[in-house]
Amino acid sequence: MYDLIIRNGTIVDGSGMPRYRGDVGIEGGKIAAIGKLRESSRETIDADGHIVSPGLVDAHTHMDAQVFWDALGSCSCWHGVTSVVMGNCGFSLAPCGEKDKLLVMRNLERAEDISPEAMQAGIKWSWTTFAQYLDAVDRLPKGINYAAYMGHSALRTYVMGERAFDEEATTEDLQLMRDELRDGIRAGAIGFTTSRTTNHQTPDGRPVASRIANWDEVRQLVGVMGELGAGIFEIAGENTGFEGPRLDDYLGRLKSLAVESSVPVTFGMFSSRRAPNFWRRYFETADETAAAGGRMFVQVHSRSLNVLLSFETNMPFDRVPAWREIRKLPLAEQEASLRNPEIRRKLVQAASERSPGERAVGAEARDANYNWIFPLDRPTPPYRSIAEIAAAEGKDPVDVMIDLALEKNLKKFFMQTLVNENQDHVLEMMKHPRSVVTFSDSGAHVSQIMDSSLQTHVLSHWVREKEALTLEQAIRLLSFVPAYHWGLKGRGLLREGNFADVIIFDPEKINPQLPELTYDLPAGARRLKQKSDGLLATVVNGQVVLRKNEHTGALPGKLLRGPLAQA
Ligand SMILES: [Zn+2]
Repeated sequence: MYDLIIRNGTIVDGSGMPRYRGDVGIEGGKIAAIGKLRESSRETIDADGHIVSPGLVDAHTHMDAQVFWDALGSCSCWHGVTSVVMGNCGFSLAPCGEKDKLLVMRNLERAEDISPEAMQAGIKWSWTTFAQYLDAVDRLPKGINYAAYMGHSALRTYVMGERAFDEEATTEDLQLMRDELRDGIRAGAIGFTTSRTTNHQTPDGRPVASRIANWDEVRQLVGVMGELGAGIFEIAGENTGFEGPRLDDYLGRLKSLAVESSVPVTFGMFSSRRAPNFWRRYFETADETAAAGGRMFVQVHSRSLNVLLSFETNMPFDRVPAWREIRKLPLAEQEASLRNPEIRRKLVQAASERSPGERAVGAEARDANYNWIFPLDRPTPPYRSIAEIAAAEGKDPVDVMIDLALEKNLKKFFMQTLVNENQDHVLEMMKHPRSVVTFSDSGAHVSQIMDSSLQTHVLSHWVREKEALTLEQAIRLLSFVPAYHWGLKGRGLLREGNFADVIIFDPEKINPQLPELTYDLPAGARRLKQKSDGLLATVVNGQVVLRKNEHTGALPGKLLRGPLAQA
């Protein structure tokens, strides 16, 4: 008698091997048998006409705060993801005592666009050390599985307080950081992360704490993991320019770090229209690192990186003086202003001014280039740019955007593409043997981007519409490959004895839905939300968590601790 049998599905097991028909029997949270099962079960799912595959793994999220108020792990859970890794880019909520929580939140607020009010209202702070934070996450009810990195900005702020934001670490500071990192890895942190990118700033325009560290500090901290023989290092990299000595120097340091420490090094990478072959240097470095005895793997996305623009959230001209006051009004009043021809004429004229003050960073809206802004009318490409529409209709591009928005009472999204414009490069990067398809940033940039759907985008766009990947290849890229790199043992493959993280979906219907804006964060803070079609059921540790993407009430998710804390 099994707990659950998924009958008659087509099994794509995560290994890349060809699909086959069969049943999956689940018992005690694990896969007990795969094949033609004659036994009975307490619960049965008829998967006829559906694909049965391992739950997907997203290794680049920022759910550190969200896990306290959203047990399900949305929006990732709505796209077949059953395990996430959080604490990327140097941002974690531990180590940090409650009295200093505002300092740590300062690191996250602007860099990751997470409302400090939501964090204050939604998190019951019960830790100081990273080990205590892991215990707090362990105790929480969870729909999916979570692994957590320790972030450099938090660690530095914990040891150095306010000094973390402008001073070099002393020998004593560094010793304290090393001690806490060692304890954290032993307690089950999956690794250590940092950021050196100018995209990560505090609300007052200063660098987040990790950016103040010199390279030797980074090396010494990564060295702790090397000594322990456990942990992965993730880095939001330096802004080196597209070529030249700074780039060579940075890639050289990354390679040496990986080889000398034996710690796997990983980072996210995009292609850019500004330097179409820039990304290749990073993949070459990963190859060279492997040849020299180190490990390096590159995190890639499955489509363009788009800021979502809307009058409900952010538009490119929000900081232009003529727009600033209007954009503070309730949406209905903004609509009324835009329907007033005289006001509108002035606004259209002003929209072409450059935004004053400091430049936009991270996933903030940029000044408009209408060749790279697209109305979001459908969940997958092709899209027409505002510039193309304006040319075809003989209109000013700003008028095109306003008209399209007014048709929907301003509840209309546009995509502003920042990078990964060339979809041939996107595909080439996904297929590179040293890449991992994972980069949703789920839990962060909550009103700016919505990439929790990058997995369903692979299944709908690249597999079904473009036929550029087989389903077997795609599932492998989204499940086994990340589970392997992050050491999530017993996950990412449908095998007897493995944990029963399973998704069941219709390959003809799997598709992201269009995103929407909601105000469902603690303290009523806003966020973008996106679900998907085609998922019949999502099983985590043997229990059905979602049926057709609706929560069943089950909360079987676990904290996934790193290797030194595994029983
Ligand atoms: Zn990140």
